[in-house]
Amino acid sequence: MSGVDLPVGSNGEAGLDGDNVARLVAATKTFGEGDAAVTALNNATIGFRRRQFTAVMGPSGSGKSTLMYCQSGLDRLTSGHAYIGDVDVSTLNDQQLSVLRRSKLGFIFQSFHLVPALSARENITLPVDLNPDAEVDEDFLAELAGVLGIENRLQNLPSQLSGGQRQRVAVARAMIPRPDVIFADEPTGALDSKTSGELLAYLRQAVDDLGQTIVMVTHDAVAASHCDRVVYVQDGHLVDEAMNPTVDDVLDKIRELS
Ligand code: ADP
Ligand code: MG
Repeated sequence: MSGVDLPVGSNGEAGLDGDNVARLVAATKTFGEGDAAVTALNNATIGFRRRQFTAVMGPSGSGKSTLMYCQSGLDRLTSGHAYIGDVDVSTLNDQQLSVLRRSKLGFIFQSFHLVPALSARENITLPVDLNPDAEVDEDFLAELAGVLGIENRLQNLPSQLSGGQRQRVAVARAMIPRPDVIFADEPTGALDSKTSGELLAYLRQAVDDLGQTIVMVTHDAVAASHCDRVVYVQDGHLVDEAMNPTVDDVLDKIRELS
């Protein structure tokens, strides 16, 4: 891997718990020091299973983004462990972390972060193009573009695409390296309900038809109702979880927590 080897297997059983593709163990993250210290994540332990679509919910400031950032190696824990497969992210240096992110993880953010000067196709293949050891799987790209309905827009610049098409490009970009897990932080946060519904349907399809694993931070009960599992975070702790949540289940729980 570009001369950078990940210590695969070095944490064996501790990291791989059943079929979890990502796992936090006794994860604590503190920002700042002394009186100004904020514990955003407080001794949290949680696993995310393969081929599952999980929503992470909780009040604003409860630690959802911190959980996602530390789980995915975008930020480092103060103590505890974050595993991707059986690799302990906490043990990786910055170079190894970037290899891990590029080869095993996909990200979808609220603003989608497309590169304006690159075509839709170039934006989608960017993570693969940046990886000297990977090649674009043209058949998979065609399949993704077809599933997402952007097969005729691949040569267009982001400025020539609708908001909905831009988000589909971002979904395809997250999926093209066939990541072990996709992390999405409030991906529907800036979208109207129709576009939001479309994005959720694409993510659902990615899980059901392509076996993708997705962890999505959201404050939207409708978004959570598209998921297989919802976990609730409060004060940096995991306080509850449920399978196959309905909108009403989620709204009730949110009311209880706030
Ligand atoms: P959520 O995504 O649930 O809204 P966050 O994970 O962003 O919550 O934040 C959890 C807590 O950590 C909040 O109190 C927030 O102010 C604090 N926090 C997050 N990032 C930083 C940072 N870089 N520096 C200082 N405090 C932070
Ligand atoms: Mg957040």
